[in-house]
Amino acid sequence: MSADFDLVIIGAGAAGGGAARRLAGEKLSVLALEAAPRVGGRMFTTRIGGLNLDFGAEWLHSAQRNPWTELAGRLGFALDRRRANWWMQYKNLGFSVEDQEAAGAAYAAWSEALAGAPEDCAAKALSETEWSAYIRAVASYVSGAELENMSARDYAAYDEASTSDNWRVFEGFGALAAAAWPEKIPLRLATPITSVTLPPGGVALSTRAGKIFARAVICTVSTDVLAGESIRWPRELRPWREAAADLPLGRNEKLFFEIRDDRFFEPDTHLIGDPRDPATAAFDIRPFGQPVIECFLGGAGALAMERDGSASAFSTALDALARLFGAEVRRALRPLAATHWGRDPRIGGAYSYALPGHAAARHCLARPFEDRVFFAGEATDPQDFTAAHGAYASGGRAAEEAIAALARRR
Ligand SMILES: Cc1cc2nc3c(=O)[nH]c(=O)nc-3n(C[C@H](O)[C@H](O)[C@H](O)COP(=O)(O)OP(=O)(O)OC[C@H]3O[C@@H](n4cnc5c(N)ncnc54)[C@H](O)[C@@H]3O)c2cc1C
Repeated sequence: MSADFDLVIIGAGAAGGGAARRLAGEKLSVLALEAAPRVGGRMFTTRIGGLNLDFGAEWLHSAQRNPWTELAGRLGFALDRRRANWWMQYKNLGFSVEDQEAAGAAYAAWSEALAGAPEDCAAKALSETEWSAYIRAVASYVSGAELENMSARDYAAYDEASTSDNWRVFEGFGALAAAAWPEKIPLRLATPITSVTLPPGGVALSTRAGKIFARAVICTVSTDVLAGESIRWPRELRPWREAAADLPLGRNEKLFFEIRDDRFFEPDTHLIGDPRDPATAAFDIRPFGQPVIECFLGGAGALAMERDGSASAFSTALDALARLFGAEVRRALRPLAATHWGRDPRIGGAYSYALPGHAAARHCLARPFEDRVFFAGEATDPQDFTAAHGAYASGGRAAEEAIAALARRR
């Protein structure tokens, strides 16, 4: 069978973009296929009423060594380099300075204990104290998972590799991802792959528009998609699907309120709803001065929204804000938008975490199958997994592997 393309990239999220940019200067015929009608995957800026809202990735973590920082400069996107305000509790509302110090110390002690956690389980590093709920809430923002289901080693590895510089893109991180797609790499949107087979010499992909035969593919779909049933996979890829199942996606969702009366809210402030509730939201207030409050939900909070719907989640978040700012804020806020990453069949959640004892699954997932199928995506990066910079870097790494393999086969 003669190949239609040297290489097909499956998925046009951050990893697909990283692969595409690396391949743009090569003399290879490349095509990218994306199930959604847009580029970016879990990087998505939407514009509502003149506001830029990042539904998914928003922060350039470890910003000084983050490849998106350099790309932002090159593509003319301005960055907000101020220090992230995540540890700020606006006016210490509902969380006294002493309690913030005690909770911070409890979180630090838990992080220290992760290295020796029995059975590599993050919950087993936790000594039950007044601040256990706080630790659970913060860890769920980072991982989207419950401590009982989480590898202690994996969580600690991400933490250790991260630096404290976290920046944002004024126009939106998702807007940057969309602009970064290289013109030279053709992209078919709204074209989901429904099955993958491995005929001799290449890979065959089925789409509703017909079959495509490539000499090799770079697969960037999320671990939930790889482990799930929306694509029919060949049995040879079973070990990769098992690794993906050991790296499920946690749950994180966002709610946005429009501020109609801004006298209650100072720009660029932050606070946690209830530090004694493991499902509590964290609130980013008037980011970049915009008349909006962004509520970030992780783990139990995000799952409650998935189960009970966004109207219920808005009501819970509004109750929390009313407790902190006073009942009058109810009239000042209007629900604007909510994300549904957990229900999106093309994604299935927020970002990957490793099950206890399965941190090494990331390495297994990143290995190529023969010289034909190369795996990228946030879950495959050895240190910056979960994040958009890890995803981007993994795309470049998989592209390098594919280029070398195709040269060997020539
Ligand atoms: C709420 C939330 C907040 C986040 N915050 C941050 C943050 O602040 N900073 C940060 O760095 N990261 C953050 N992340 C994580 C970051 O968004 C991801 O790590 C990164 O975008 C993942 O990129 P990816 O390319 O690996 O996967 P994806 O973005 O999932 O890309 C895979 C692509 O494959 C496509 N696909 C699926 N099935 C098929 C099919 N059958 N055929 C063809 N294509 C298919 C999908 O549509 C998708 O576009 C956040 C994520 C969420 C959900």
